[in-house]
Amino acid sequence: MSSDILLNMKTLGVIGGMSWESTVLYYQWTNRGIKRELGGLHSAKLLLASVDFAEIEVLQHAGDWAGAGAILNQAARSLQAGGADLLLIATNTMHKVAEETLNGVDLPLLHIVDPTADAILGAGHRKVGLLGTGFTMRDDFYKGRMQGQFDIDVIVPDEGDMNAVHQIIYDELCLGEIVPSSRDTYLAVIDRLVERGAEAIILGCTEITLLVKQSHTSIPLFDTTELHAEAAVRAIINNA
Ligand code: GLU
Repeated sequence: MSSDILLNMKTLGVIGGMSWESTVLYYQWTNRGIKRELGGLHSAKLLLASVDFAEIEVLQHAGDWAGAGAILNQAARSLQAGGADLLLIATNTMHKVAEETLNGVDLPLLHIVDPTADAILGAGHRKVGLLGTGFTMRDDFYKGRMQGQFDIDVIVPDEGDMNAVHQIIYDELCLGEIVPSSRDTYLAVIDRLVERGAEAIILGCTEITLLVKQSHTSIPLFDTTELHAEAAVRAIINNA
């Protein structure tokens, strides 16, 4: 059985480094998933193009999304040239430039919203709260896909809470700093979203899982890092 699967296993191309603190999780969880599915010494066929997040962060906050997209496009081209069969962008925020990333690249993209939406619908939820960077919470590229393609109602924190959630991501989580008082801040924001009707919460930034885990709250959490990595496992072994 495993030799058939080996012949068929696709090579995953990961655009990572945004931040590397969460790319590490993708690498670990994709490999763990392959080991769980195939056993023994099996591991994921994977290429990683890891960018310098300091450059990306400057472009994001300057609103230069074309510049950030061009960097990701270079990464995507290098992964295609290296033999990747499909691509994954290991951050929610940078799906804002998913189209630019794929410019001139002939590979499918495993979009982070899709496995997240499937899991939410599978659990029977229709209205969810979204935590992520300000770009992910405010712009339409993420909520629009959830609502337009999956009919999931997405609500976001108020301005003050959005700013707090955003700053903690850039000032702490992307630097690998886990601060208990910031966890309390997130849990309070989650409670306020639930008061406004959220049935569950999307951890819509790939570092939030470092700070807030399901054991910290009874509200159902949908961890995009885990769901995205699991989708990658399915995609590379099922030829999906
Ligand atoms: N990793 C984060 C995300 O999932 C934030 C860093 C970034 O801006 O890419 O959105």
